[in-house]
Amino acid sequence: MLKKVLIANRGEIAVRIVRACAEMGIRSVAIYTEPDRYALHVKRADEAYSLGEDPLSGYLDPLRIVNLALETGCDAIHPGYGFLSENAEFARLCEQKGITFVGPKSSVIHKMGDKTQARDSMRAAGVPITPGSEGNLANLEEALALASEIGYPIMIKATSGGGGRGIRRCDSAQELTQQYPRVISEATKAFGSAEVFMEKCIVNPRHIEVQILADSQGNVVHLYERDCSIQRRNQKLIEIAPSPQLTPEQRNYIGGLAVKAAEAVGYENAGTVEFLLSGNQVYFMEMNTRVQVEHTITEQITGVDIVREQLRIASGLPLSYRQEDISYRGFALQFRINAEDPKNDFLPSFGRISHYYAPGGPGVRVDTAIYTGYEIPPFYDSMCLKLVVWALTWEEVVARGQRALDDMRLHGIKTTANYYKQILQHEDFRNASFNTSFVPEHPELLNYSDKKHPSEIALALAAAIAAHAGW
Ligand code: ADP
Ligand code: ADP
Ligand code: MG
Repeated sequence: MLKKVLIANRGEIAVRIVRACAEMGIRSVAIYTEPDRYALHVKRADEAYSLGEDPLSGYLDPLRIVNLALETGCDAIHPGYGFLSENAEFARLCEQKGITFVGPKSSVIHKMGDKTQARDSMRAAGVPITPGSEGNLANLEEALALASEIGYPIMIKATSGGGGRGIRRCDSAQELTQQYPRVISEATKAFGSAEVFMEKCIVNPRHIEVQILADSQGNVVHLYERDCSIQRRNQKLIEIAPSPQLTPEQRNYIGGLAVKAAEAVGYENAGTVEFLLSGNQVYFMEMNTRVQVEHTITEQITGVDIVREQLRIASGLPLSYRQEDISYRGFALQFRINAEDPKNDFLPSFGRISHYYAPGGPGVRVDTAIYTGYEIPPFYDSMCLKLVVWALTWEEVVARGQRALDDMRLHGIKTTANYYKQILQHEDFRNASFNTSFVPEHPELLNYSDKKHPSEIALALAAAIAAHAGW
């Protein structure tokens, strides 16, 4: 078993990994840059090392991180999500220097990180993919010719894209002509690669993704699916497990496809295979070769600790579960509470958290790195808290989500929490009938009032907390 792990990340996911290490008797090492000096992952890890003044470069410096891991006697690096997690060069450097990378082999990261190569692998393995280009697009002329063959609408996507960026829908040749250079420039800026490809746009699809686990002995299992159709600009807002919109047959079929996809590329560790579902048609979209933001909801319905499994797999141990051992119970929802102002085009709202009171009670889980008095730095992702709720039925989990969002107090910054309450009240959401167009089709849900809680309620709450805490 691994003895000491360097966590090459920050925020809630770094804290999540520290927690898994603590439960497994593994020592944890945090890294941070100066704006993160007072971050929770730094306080909570067994050891922490500064990687300089610059807010970002320390988290993105493969050589420095690997060397630090060696110097501090770590046997592994967990990359979390974002940052270097899908950087094949980083994984390769770990392999070369004899440090275990908690994830798949660098060659597999490379192959799946390139969306056109991933499509090739899936085509070869017999996993259905969206119709589209057979590789990257050479120029606009080729794009226009292919689009008229496939039929509009089409999507232009960055080949090494992620995080919902570098994707544009085009409904006509005119739009394609306009958008083509924009995607290229966005891809170059965000991902350092100008490569783009084309997919047919699947209209009003559901985003269904499957969590898989694979060990070094070649065993692969899936942990059922998540429905991430509640998105804004291709970014997930609320995630659900299992999907309330699948039949048992569809569930088994998609789970099986994900296992087939993982087996086809010799996958190892935790990963997610993302699909689009339209009617009964399933299309492979991409594979994320890392722990995912929304792994939490799968943990809640299956009871499997995914980060623990990641560390066991990286230690060379076989999976703790066979497919037939894995069942799921109830429903879980995850709300990505972002430091953003929904009423102002989701503009980031960084700053000091003047007051934070965590929601609690039955079936509530919070993964965050914030605390009262914490100042959210402006340099990183705006997601500041993941609120996860679980209940036995769909009806109950929606009510519990509403209640937990009401419970939470997060003052000093604007967040997406109140917007989510509106979504939960919508009958299409309640009837479990939605697709990726839900958010753009319901701009009226942004017309809520950010009502301030009357001071009596705040005082009563403070008194209740104080009474409980025995102050
Ligand atoms: P998930 O698929 O786990 O839901 P997201 O797409 O929300 O993940 O991405 C999680 C984090 O990783 C975000 O901060 C996002 O910006 C970042 N990220 C994801 N993919 C990439 C990529 N290819 N390049 C850079 N950052 C990425
Ligand atoms: P990322 O790597 O940024 O996560 P994805 O390829 O997973 O990019 O796509 C992100 C989202 O964009 C999907 O969840 C879906 O809502 C939308 N999308 C992507 N490709 C298509 C497509 N071909 N048709 C319709 N929607 C798509
Ligand atoms: Mg994706």
